[in-house]
Amino acid sequence: METAKDLDHDGIGRSLTRVEVAQFIEGYAVPSASENILELCNPATGTKSIVMPVGYEADVERAVESSRTAFEDGRWCDFPASRRRSILHQFAELIETHANELDVLDAMDMGKPVSLSLGNAASSADLVRYYTQAMDNLVSDVYQSSKNSFIAQQCVPRGVVAAITPWNFPVMAAVTKIAPALAAGNSVVLKPSECSPRSSMKLAYLATEAGIPPGVLNLVQGKGETVGRALALHNDVDMLAFTGSTAVGKLMLQYAGQSNLKPVHAECGGKSPQIVFSDYENLDNVADHVAQLILMNQGQLCVTGSRLLVQKEIEDTLIEKVAERLKRVVAGDPLNPEITFGPLANQRQMERVLGYISAGKESGADLVLGGNPMLQESGGFFVEPTLFTNVPPDATIAQEEIFGPVLSVTSFRHTEEAIRLANATPFGLATYVWTTNLTTGMRLSKAIRSGMVTINASTPMGEGSAALSLEPYGLSGVGVEHGLAGLHTYLRRQVAWFNYGAT
Ligand code: NAD
Repeated sequence: METAKDLDHDGIGRSLTRVEVAQFIEGYAVPSASENILELCNPATGTKSIVMPVGYEADVERAVESSRTAFEDGRWCDFPASRRRSILHQFAELIETHANELDVLDAMDMGKPVSLSLGNAASSADLVRYYTQAMDNLVSDVYQSSKNSFIAQQCVPRGVVAAITPWNFPVMAAVTKIAPALAAGNSVVLKPSECSPRSSMKLAYLATEAGIPPGVLNLVQGKGETVGRALALHNDVDMLAFTGSTAVGKLMLQYAGQSNLKPVHAECGGKSPQIVFSDYENLDNVADHVAQLILMNQGQLCVTGSRLLVQKEIEDTLIEKVAERLKRVVAGDPLNPEITFGPLANQRQMERVLGYISAGKESGADLVLGGNPMLQESGGFFVEPTLFTNVPPDATIAQEEIFGPVLSVTSFRHTEEAIRLANATPFGLATYVWTTNLTTGMRLSKAIRSGMVTINASTPMGEGSAALSLEPYGLSGVGVEHGLAGLHTYLRRQVAWFNYGAT
């Protein structure tokens, strides 16, 4: 069989980034049970970069069996919490030490610029550190009982967790699942996106080096329809932790229903509004935030603010300021630290975004900026930052997640209309409100159905943000992620009730 190997020879960071893509089971890279391979392209050049296994149901069997054995024999869950904590702390240290390399792997696989600090590998190390500390706050409850009994509610690990993750922030997406799952004492089978396989491979090696026992974190590479499906349907998997599109999130719930009714945690898509009121005087500041968010990772961010709802009086001024900033984009090779805008992840993603732009043109909206492929001489999958104004609220580009650098502007006249428009999609992931009126801000923070409503701030990041638990609304997903409540997602409540005398 042809083993999957790195075929990339040019550019920077090569000696650092020769990572073979294979299955990773019991602490070792092993070949897939299938000889079929997938070829991936470097999104900045369109040239073939790596081959990797398509994956096979037998790979999943092997990985789940290994994780099950690791859970049952207690090689991780029975460790004292202090030992698990010190190993996870070491895992965080190693992620930080190898952060540049991990970011380069993601840039080569899916085009995320190495200059982007939001959601990069260094911040993923911080996330692991957060969970190592949060473990100390996991307490069991003792309940009032009769004189002859003692009732305790314990939090116990669920068992084998399947973590199925997307390509847009590969390291962060994987760590967001595996860190709380491992902190809670579970064993994990990670299945990263077939579009961004390399950094997860590296993470698996680092976890082993940190001292996470073999079998506790296994990795299956391959296509979603084969490997992801087999994993999600597996009767020996106790929980599904998914991040990805709404369409596949719905499949996860079906797979759970068709198998062992495992609990599903699914973080899915969004169509998040930026809502700007005319009382907010510093429109330059708003324009900076709006442009930064829609350009970040080329718009391939679940919480990107892809709908700009602006009060009529300031519509023209704000549009002009946002357009100015979108034009100033510094596009090119995502491996270049000066570049802030890279290619879309792959050809399919570029075609999808261009398809939405065509739909926007046909919707009656006005295309005022962009709308075309760019840097075509590179061979890469670049699309211009694109701005539509006068977008009808029911237009496809105002309703569906595009996952690209496309901003739709719709105006509103008063607060009630802003709330109605904000709630007028089936999603509810994030909302950004810009107003200096406290009453308006408080009203919107309660009236909008969304996992998060920020007032005069962009995506909360940095110190303290890992502690915030978010629960999406509607088609944006089910379950709680991050924070202590997110850690509890990976635990099961079990009652221990002792009677020690006649009752
Ligand atoms: P996707 O749904 O296509 O794939 C996600 C994962 O599911 C991948 O590992 C894929 O291989 C697997 N998969 C695909 N089809 C499958 C199937 N039939 N059965 C089982 N597994 C399958 O998503 P994507 O294109 O990789 O990522 C982009 C999406 O992720 C966007 O919708 C974005 O909003 C979402 N996302 C959400 C969040 C969040 O926190 N809400 C964060 C990041 C990304």
